[in-house]
Amino acid sequence: PVILSVRDLRANVDGTEILKGLNLEMRAGEIHAIMGPNGSGKSTFSKVLAGHPAYEVTGGEVIFQGQNLLELEPEERSRTGVFLAFQYPLEIPGVSNLDFLRVAYNSHQKSKGLEELDAFDFQDLVEQKLEVVKMNPSFLTRSVNEGFSGGEKKRNEILQMALLEPKLAILDETDSGLDIDALKIVANGVNQLANAENAMLVITHYQRLLDYIIPDYVHVMEGGRIVTTGTKELALELEARGYDWITEEKATEV
Ligand code: ADP
Ligand code: MG
Ligand code: MG
Repeated sequence: PVILSVRDLRANVDGTEILKGLNLEMRAGEIHAIMGPNGSGKSTFSKVLAGHPAYEVTGGEVIFQGQNLLELEPEERSRTGVFLAFQYPLEIPGVSNLDFLRVAYNSHQKSKGLEELDAFDFQDLVEQKLEVVKMNPSFLTRSVNEGFSGGEKKRNEILQMALLEPKLAILDETDSGLDIDALKIVANGVNQLANAENAMLVITHYQRLLDYIIPDYVHVMEGGRIVTTGTKELALELEARGYDWITEEKATEV
């Protein structure tokens, strides 16, 4: 079944059109990667999916599991099963990571009509999930992300994803230099959490990430649209040849 269907999506930032007719369809069980040069609109796309208020959707549609995602508030999007990895990168002094995760987890459980967990049961659940990210339990008692290194914040994000078990996970790897350890954390998390019922969208301009995640499809974004779609071989070709040849082939297509 189709999990996400994006048709002719257009969006503005500060009155400038950034997304210019983006099309994407993802089915259950698939891992998709979006690559593309800096400034092509990758992060804009993930922010529009998240419902970031600075981005004005001017056209097209986004259907998530049969529902119009664009008419939901960001929190509702999250509760219906959309996970955005950059959603909680903020530091929250004075709030323990464990409490923060439990509140997020229970709010999702509640909205699904499922049982909320008390502190003890939640601790047991979290400890299982810590295995996914190979995270030291001491991080649970520290304040959310406070003083965490880049790699530790990454682990914490993947831990959140492992707890919330989203139907659609969107991981936007920002341009801030992720080291190889952080790439592996993301990759392991995606690989372990991907299953036949969900879909994973990994947005990156690091070809290297795809040494660790085998995507079913690789899309290239340019100028606010997906201009080419291929399989993992496309990522290898991009690694070897860069992006310019795609633009040139587009230019010579009649
Ligand atoms: P990518 O993630 O592919 O590098 P972005 O989505 O971050 O690309 O940016 C796409 C384009 O949108 C860039 O040209 C960028 O300068 C522009 N842009 C992004 N955010 C803003 C903003 N808040 N105001 C104006 N322009 C923006
Ligand atoms: Mg960028
Ligand atoms: Mg970006």
